[in-house]
Amino acid sequence: MGKTERKRLMVMLGPPGAGKGTQAVNVAKRYSIPHISTGDIFRAAIKEGTDLGRKAKKYLDAGELVPDSVVTDIVAERISKDDCVGGFLLDGFPRTLPQAEALDKMLSDKGCPLTAVVDLAVDRDALVKRLTARRACSKCGENYNLVSKAPKKEGVCDKCGGALYQRDDDKRETIENRLSVYEKQTAPLIEYYKRSGRLVSASGEGPIDGVFKRICAALD
Ligand code: AMP
Repeated sequence: MGKTERKRLMVMLGPPGAGKGTQAVNVAKRYSIPHISTGDIFRAAIKEGTDLGRKAKKYLDAGELVPDSVVTDIVAERISKDDCVGGFLLDGFPRTLPQAEALDKMLSDKGCPLTAVVDLAVDRDALVKRLTARRACSKCGENYNLVSKAPKKEGVCDKCGGALYQRDDDKRETIENRLSVYEKQTAPLIEYYKRSGRLVSASGEGPIDGVFKRICAALD
């Protein structure tokens, strides 16, 4: 019983470029729970050329959402793995109302409702600036930002020496589309979670450490 109460079943919500990925890694580490990023799952599947990758690629390239049923099945399978018994942090899921409802249903079937949803808020102009400056390592996946977290040597990963690249969906045309998809389909989730008293908001502006401190304070 005590163990169930300590379970942390969390969601990181926020527009593309708010820093969800970076903060989710830190928050998951702090609570010793797995970080589950649906975007990372799709990118890995595309790289490996699996069926899922082939299905997802056209949506990612266009900045559109992968159909709800595809994403929901992946998440249902992932959170039923052993490492999720003590909790997990979802990053990039849910992104639509039907996904949020499906997640609530999955968790209520297990008798463990979501404990917190963190909403990272960042102003739209800042998002465009951040997204166009985003780079990732083609070898180890480490994330960089030419403005806030530049690599020591241009185009080279500090950690493994791999070449840095810009995600196709971080090109300007796709960014505009991703932001309007967010406004239309994902932003309504803020109200959905607020209504059920599970929303915790933190400003995602400013240095990474400061944002992390605000999230922790809000969660504690
Ligand atoms: P992200 O890395 O979270 O920005 O996700 C990159 C892309 O993966 C998105 O633009 C979508 O095409 C796809 N994706 C990730 N998560 C979801 C989701 N929950 N629902 C639908 N599509 C998703």
